[in-house]
Amino acid sequence: MHRDVIDGVPVLWEQAPGPLEAALVFGCGARDETFRTLGVTHLVEHLAMSTLPRLHHEHNAMVDLELTQFTATGRPEQITAYLTLVCQALADLPVERIEQESGVLAAEDGCASHPTVGALLSHRYGIEGLGLAPWNGPGPDRIPLEAVRDVVARFFHAGNAVLVLTGPPPEGLRLPLPAGPRPARGEAQQVRTAHSRWQEDAVPGPGLGLDCDLADQPLQLALAVLQERLRNTARHQHGLSYDVSCASAAAGLGRGERVVHLDAREGEEQRVAVLLWEGALKLAAEGPSEEEVAEEVAAARELFLDPRAVSFELELAASAELFGTPYRPVPERLALLEKVTAEQVHRAFARAMDSALLVVPPGTEVSLRLPDGSPLPEARCTAAGLPADGQQFRPSVKDRLFHPAARRARLVLNDAGVWLRNPDGEVHHIPYREVVGVEIQGPGRVVFGAAPCVIPVLPEMFAGLTPGLRALDAAVPEELRYAASGFRSADN
Ligand SMILES: [Zn+2]
Repeated sequence: MHRDVIDGVPVLWEQAPGPLEAALVFGCGARDETFRTLGVTHLVEHLAMSTLPRLHHEHNAMVDLELTQFTATGRPEQITAYLTLVCQALADLPVERIEQESGVLAAEDGCASHPTVGALLSHRYGIEGLGLAPWNGPGPDRIPLEAVRDVVARFFHAGNAVLVLTGPPPEGLRLPLPAGPRPARGEAQQVRTAHSRWQEDAVPGPGLGLDCDLADQPLQLALAVLQERLRNTARHQHGLSYDVSCASAAAGLGRGERVVHLDAREGEEQRVAVLLWEGALKLAAEGPSEEEVAEEVAAARELFLDPRAVSFELELAASAELFGTPYRPVPERLALLEKVTAEQVHRAFARAMDSALLVVPPGTEVSLRLPDGSPLPEARCTAAGLPADGQQFRPSVKDRLFHPAARRARLVLNDAGVWLRNPDGEVHHIPYREVVGVEIQGPGRVVFGAAPCVIPVLPEMFAGLTPGLRALDAAVPEELRYAASGFRSADN
């Protein structure tokens, strides 16, 4: 891999077959946002791309959890022109187009990750950092202009960019970005849930997440073995699933989440969830065979040595450069992989299973066991009970009369936060310091807590709520309150 610097931007390149491919990569993504500003990086990307004239060569831009990339394929002079335009747009963003582009974002409805991966990340990390993945936030029309300017200043400059190319940099290539400091990346994001739990969520199919060292090669092989075993059972043997996938998300300093997820034929979600969990338990208990490990090493070798993998390798190297983590070139990675034993794979997976999160589609009832035989606990966002002090609100007399269950419902606000007791007796609690957003819905409010937890503070649910609403508004910083998105339909 070759290395140059153009206008302060590191340029990594390696010759690959086919036309020249370029990616201008910035070290920022959805995990750098907050619930209140969710989608701001994507909005910046759209504002920049909206300045481009019609181009006849392939070009695109994308934002995932970690990176924002502006990509193009074409002749060297086309790449040069494209990159100059993108840099100029980022240096002088057409913020007057914010209304149109937020509308485009609403139409696009893009996600930073697969919904099953997103749900697992949100359970692991709450509505912060990586855990923002499955959330929509206030909506693209509620992103403050100030947040757009802030993201541009913090992230979209030469100090947070790497250009990757599948050939030498074209003659006369310039990258006219403003200068700026590499953003400080401290500790890895702290997990909120460290131990095994299962949970229902709005996911298309079951998924298993493990909190781990992303550079742990034995664990990576273990997940490949599990993926292959599930392909054999859920797909080929039982015909319940089509797609079995692996994914990962980086929390910083090499830590992160590895995920195996699969889809399920309608009505078969429970069977697929059981196959996934039992399959993971079996692998943790017995480990893989030497043949299985050798098979996955062979598959990895094939993938790494494919000449079309050059742009993928360049992206890995760019990410390592931007986040200050080591990049191991293919031969080095392969040599290490080939030394991994089945016993190491077994140990790595058994250890990682201590942190296993299982997510299942809504309405999927599972009764599963941990390796020691005790029940796999369901993750519940519950508080012990309601506080003794504070203002208490109940459903209206009419609601209590006609819906006996409503008699148990309570909303409590005190100096520390909000509590909700559902008709089924379950208690939810959001401390004020954990509030990530308050959506204004007419006279009512919906409170979002980092846990993640959502508590409706709505007059249609609780009678005489005015003093409670006043207390809530006084307790939450004004910048966290926003009017519900104009893009959302009335039935939402
Ligand atoms: Zn809750």
